[in-house]
Amino acid sequence: MSAMKRSTKIVATLGPASSDPAVLERMILAGVDVVRLNFSHGTAADHLKRAELVRETCRKIDRTVGIMADLQGPKIRVGKFKDGKVALNKGDKFILDADCETGDATRVGLDYKELPRDVRPGDVLLLDDGKIVLDVASVKGNEIHTVTRHGGTLSNNKGINRQGGGLTAPALTPKDIDDIRTAAQMKADYLAVSFPKSGADMYMAKELMRAAGGDSLLIAKIERAEAIPALEDIMNACDGIMVARGDLAVEVGDASVPALQKRMIRTARELNKLTITATQMMESMISSPVPTRAEVSDVANAVLDGTDAVMLSAESASGQYPVETIEAMSRICVEAEKSHPVTLDREFLDRVFKRVDQSIAMAALFTAYHLNVKAIAALTESGSTALWMSRLNCGVPIYALTSQTNTRYRTTLFRDTYPLMVKYVGHDREELLEEAEAVLVRSGVVAEGDLIVLTIGEPIGKAGGTNTMKIVRVGDHKRRAP
Ligand code: PGA
Ligand code: MN
Repeated sequence: MSAMKRSTKIVATLGPASSDPAVLERMILAGVDVVRLNFSHGTAADHLKRAELVRETCRKIDRTVGIMADLQGPKIRVGKFKDGKVALNKGDKFILDADCETGDATRVGLDYKELPRDVRPGDVLLLDDGKIVLDVASVKGNEIHTVTRHGGTLSNNKGINRQGGGLTAPALTPKDIDDIRTAAQMKADYLAVSFPKSGADMYMAKELMRAAGGDSLLIAKIERAEAIPALEDIMNACDGIMVARGDLAVEVGDASVPALQKRMIRTARELNKLTITATQMMESMISSPVPTRAEVSDVANAVLDGTDAVMLSAESASGQYPVETIEAMSRICVEAEKSHPVTLDREFLDRVFKRVDQSIAMAALFTAYHLNVKAIAALTESGSTALWMSRLNCGVPIYALTSQTNTRYRTTLFRDTYPLMVKYVGHDREELLEEAEAVLVRSGVVAEGDLIVLTIGEPIGKAGGTNTMKIVRVGDHKRRAP
C-alpha cells in the first residue's frame, strides 16, 4: 500500500489509450482505484479480455482495483449517413425518419423507431451532446420534421436528447440485458446503469444481475431530467449514483448541473449511498499534459462536495496522457482533502439508526474522532460497516479488513476506505484481533504504540452482525504475553 493518503477515489475509463499492459500498470500505480469498462464501445469479448488483464495486473503488483461495467443504456441515436456525416446550417430543414435506411443532407434514420410518437411540434431536440439544436416543426407519421437552430457537422450514430427530458425509451435494451450477463461473467464489482428514471429501473437491473449469477453493486447514472424528482426512489433501489454531467447537462441545462451535483452528493451520503462525479473533469488533458485552472477547481470542488470518486472518460480511454492525468487528478484530490472540514459533531448527532451493526459503526466513528486515533479497523464480511463509517468525514482512515475477495474489491470506491486482506480462518477472537493488528502494521499504516479502534462481529467466523467495538494500543498484547 502506498504511503500517500488519498481519501477520494479515482475511476478511470479504459480504452485504446490504456490497452497496453505496461500503460495500464502505470495507470494503476499512479492511483486508479476503479476501472470503468464502457459498454457503449467494443464487444463482450473485448471487455472480458480487458477485465482479465486488470485482475492479472492487480495480482502482479499487489493492488486492489475494482471493475465497473457501464451499460450503454437506451441512448437514442441517429442512424448512419451515406457519406458518414452531413453539414447542417441554421435554417436548414432536416427530417428524423424512423423508416430511413441511409441518411443524406435532408434526412436520417433513428435507432429508436418510436421516437416520432414521443415528440411534438415546439419540442427542442439536442444532438451530439447539444452541439446541434433542432426545433420540431411537425410530426408526420414516422417522420419528425425539424428546422436547424444551431448547425454543425452531424455524423453517424450521434445521440439525441430532448430539452427538458421525457423521452420514453425503455430503461434496459436487449443489448444491456446481454451486457449484464457479460458483467456477471467477469465478476464486475460495480454495474452502472445508464438513463434510469425510477427505482423500478434499478430493481430490474438488479434482478437481471442476480439471475445471471453476479453480485455487483449497482450504480444509477443520473442523466435524465426525470431522474431528478425521483432521486431518493432511485437511490433507495441501488448502492450509489453517478453524477453523469454529460447527458444531464443536455437535458436540464448546463447551468443547473453544479447545484444538482452538490444536492445529489449530500443526499446520497445521507442515505448511505456512494457517489461518482463524472465527465469532462480533466477534459483538456486528452491532448495536453497539464489541466486547465478550471479543471483543477472542478476536481477540487467535487472533493469538497464529498464525492466518493472522481471519474475520467476520454482522458484515460483515448487521450494522449492517461498516466499524467491520473497523477494530476490524484494530487488535486490530496490537496483539496486537506481543507475538507471534519464535521462529525454537527452532522453526527442528527443521525437516526436502529441496527446494531450500524450503531457500532457510529460508535466507532465517534470514538475514533474524539480519541484522535490513527486508524479505524473494520473487520467486515460484507463491507457495510465500512460504508456507514465512510459516509461521514471523521478525519480517520478506515481499513476494511476482510477475508472475502469480493468485499475487498467492492470497497475500492468508498471514500476514506482502504481494503486489506486478513487471511485468518479460525474461530479464536484473540488470534483474529492479533492478525488484524499485524496486517495493519505490515501494511505500514500503524506502528507500535498507535491507538486504533476495531469493530468486529462476535462470535467470530459467523457472517453478519458487527456488535463489538474495541480500542487497542498497537503492540499491547505482546507486552501482556507471558
Ligand atoms: P456516458 O455517461 O459517458 O456513458 O455518456 C456519463 C455522462 O453522461 O456524463
Ligand atoms: Mn451519459
